[in-house]
Amino acid sequence: MKFQTRLIHECIEPEKWNGATLPPIYQNASHCHQSAESMSDTFGGKTDQHIYMRLTNPTNQVLEQKLSALEGGKGAIYMASGMAAVTNTCMALLRAGDEFVCGSSLFMSTYLLFTKVFAKYNLTCRIVDPLDLEGMENSINDKTRFIYLETIGNPAIDIPDIQKCADLAHKHGLPLLVDNTLATPYLCRPLELGANVIIHSTTKYLSGHGDAVGGMVIDGGSFDWAASDRFPDFKPFIERKGELALRDKIWREHHINFGSTPAPFHAYLTFIGLDTLGLRMERHMKNTIKVAQHLADHSKVNWVNYPGLKNHPCRATAEKQFGHLGYGGLLTFGMDDQEACFQVINNLKMIYHLANLGDCKTLIIHPASSQYLSFPEQERNQLGIRSDLLRLSVGIEDVEDICNDIDQALTKL
Ligand SMILES: *Cc1c(COP(=O)(O)O)cnc(C)c1O
Repeated sequence: MKFQTRLIHECIEPEKWNGATLPPIYQNASHCHQSAESMSDTFGGKTDQHIYMRLTNPTNQVLEQKLSALEGGKGAIYMASGMAAVTNTCMALLRAGDEFVCGSSLFMSTYLLFTKVFAKYNLTCRIVDPLDLEGMENSINDKTRFIYLETIGNPAIDIPDIQKCADLAHKHGLPLLVDNTLATPYLCRPLELGANVIIHSTTKYLSGHGDAVGGMVIDGGSFDWAASDRFPDFKPFIERKGELALRDKIWREHHINFGSTPAPFHAYLTFIGLDTLGLRMERHMKNTIKVAQHLADHSKVNWVNYPGLKNHPCRATAEKQFGHLGYGGLLTFGMDDQEACFQVINNLKMIYHLANLGDCKTLIIHPASSQYLSFPEQERNQLGIRSDLLRLSVGIEDVEDICNDIDQALTKL
């Protein structure tokens, strides 16, 4: 089956669900067992029955299987937020004193986690330009445990070449982790390009309606932990779960002990959202290219950053990697200064001003005065969080209405 069909039909099992074509919501903390032997066997990992919601939940598992299948992975863990997925995955890979290399255009909370929180535990992230392979290679040393990238940087909107980065990682016996939130498996499947682990905030395009928070880590099962001499601590997990050693390590050491299990209602909503992911992404991207061109032609807009525009430095990589489907649904544009940005936001009538992206509704934010408010100015500048920058997550409304709202807001300046 092709991808749009798989989005709808993958992992639907009416025969198991009393004929229902949506997974039942198992809203219960614990599962009873018929015998002492069954409970003991389940604790011993000999059966795949359920014990307690923090460990596993049948509704959450359906979403794990579905997203894993859609990304081409071998197994997944659904967590309470994208940040839970980032934190648990990285911590499962790192031991005190270890290092990793990551691209500089990171989601804001990921950046704070990597640079501020991990530092407390003597974990070092070496931040490099994700488009600079030489710089990436030069940052690898014998303490490095992985390379971490985002498919589409935010708000830099830069696109690293995943295949080349995967080759570089593998040359040094390292796995490549990719946060694929902004591209979604509709636009890009990094495991097919050589990445080994995928992370998602399902809060964004996957659920798609601003209704559910969640995260997913997907193990590609493609990294040979035993072949690299960097991972002696993986031995018991390899013995237990073979190619899914990392999934087992994240689940056993971190997910269940850090308590990052989501309520199954979030999985249910996300499951429904996936039905229309393809349709929504098509429309998001069709709208975004039009809005980008409209903004680029507007006299009051100084610049527009969108990989679908001609001359964008990442356009060729996007076309190679995204197979001409499009360039994502996020863009940034520049006004004269912060004051002008505030006026635009305050003048908008339809477009919502809120901190999220990937919603059906068009959303705008001024990152420098919101998500990055607590950052020192110098650090903001290094990260490209300019005070004249507005970020737009283009929704699926009629594009004329999006452009009209922007026009009336700009006219009042
Ligand atoms: C939102 C986001 C996250 C964090 O996800 P939450 O669900 O908000 O915890 C991580 N990475 C990217 C790229 C995101 O956009």
